Amino acid sequence: MPELFTDKNQCFGCGVCAEICPNKAIVMKADAEGFLYPFIDQEKCVKCGLCKSVCPIGSEIKGKQGKIYALRCKDEDLLSKSSSGGAFSVLANTVLEAGGLVCGAAFDEAFHVRHVLGNDVSSMRKSKYVQSDLKGIYSEIKEALARDTVVLFTGTPCQCQALKNYIGEDDNLIITAIVCRGVASPGLWVDYVNWLSGGEKLEEYCFRDKRVNNNGHTVSYKINGKEIVLTMDQDPFNVMYLRCLSLRPSCYTCPYTRRELPFDLTIGDFWGVEKHFKEFADGRGTSLVITRSEKGERLLEEARKEADLKQCPSDIELQEALRASAPKSMLRKLLFKDYSAMKNSTGISIDLILKKYGGNKA
Ligand SMILES: Cc1cc2nc3c(=O)[nH]c(=O)nc-3n(C[C@H](O)[C@H](O)[C@H](O)COP(=O)(O)OP(=O)(O)OC[C@H]3O[C@@H](n4cnc5c(N)ncnc54)[C@H](O)[C@@H]3O)c2cc1C
Repeated sequence: MPELFTDKNQCFGCGVCAEICPNKAIVMKADAEGFLYPFIDQEKCVKCGLCKSVCPIGSEIKGKQGKIYALRCKDEDLLSKSSSGGAFSVLANTVLEAGGLVCGAAFDEAFHVRHVLGNDVSSMRKSKYVQSDLKGIYSEIKEALARDTVVLFTGTPCQCQALKNYIGEDDNLIITAIVCRGVASPGLWVDYVNWLSGGEKLEEYCFRDKRVNNNGHTVSYKINGKEIVLTMDQDPFNVMYLRCLSLRPSCYTCPYTRRELPFDLTIGDFWGVEKHFKEFADGRGTSLVITRSEKGERLLEEARKEADLKQCPSDIELQEALRASAPKSMLRKLLFKDYSAMKNSTGISIDLILKKYGGNKA
């Protein structure tokens, strides 16, 4: 059996190893912290090594610094439905108008976060600060590319690297990484959703509501027709995320928290926009866009008709998520110790965990 990893920091949970295995010997299963890891069925494993060859851990990360832009989409409705300035939507619309497909993270009916491929991007809009499941998506993208369809993929940088390793070079594939400080536990998310809904029906959840001009630092959700609106620091799941307590182990040593990446584009929030473009400093959100290839630059050029776009000096200081990985604290260890104990029915409840680690005064 090939060892896929010896230490949990050494697995991004992208699932590309399971997808490429010709014998379906690898399955992704959640650990006690609620994150997916690959498990190999030794009886089925033929030791072909394909899983190791596509694993993004250890892939060489070589890329250009790229050109930096501030972007805000012109369509007010789209801007309000986007986490920052709507860069994703204008890029996606341009690809769709040319007959291509878009792949991004969406909630399914049970509010699990999964990547989907298609031409309806409404469910892909807005950040979900939970690790997304990519099961089946690599081969779907490969099939679309084989039909000569252009595909715009958006995901965390580690997911982008996994896809790049799986597909290889393809002119029809445009890879866009989101700026990422880390992904929260999907298991903890499911327990939070169940706690929130209290047995009733959760109908909507938004991590970045734009009804107040505070750059989307508002959370909203709807349960049985009743809408609840909170600031991010009033919601326990978001407090744990913002304090970097609920992230995947590999996020704390992420090698992608840098500007030079081997992807066509990067999109994120343009934090500090007031220092450069006062006209965007109204709390309605501005996207940071970095282009690093001709493909990426061409797509942005075509998309700019839908957006206000400003190029920035190449030496501007960018946010921390492009310079350093998330800090790991002792509290993270304690949170997941309690969470694992809760899963073993020791009397610790999700209510207690959310209060202890997600209270805004914690
Ligand atoms: C887990 C996570 C961490 C982030 N951390 C930062 C950060 O530290 N700094 C920063 O500037 N920006 C960060 N972002 C990006 C930011 O929140 C916005 O997604 C980005 O600015 C794009 O916004 P938009 O207005 O263009 O469009 P939106 O419509 O809001 O775009 C959403 C895009 O994000 C993708 N996406 C949503 N959820 C996930 C997910 N769980 N996994 C993978 N892809 C997802 C969608 O596929 C889509 O492409 C993060 C996003 C996520 C999901």
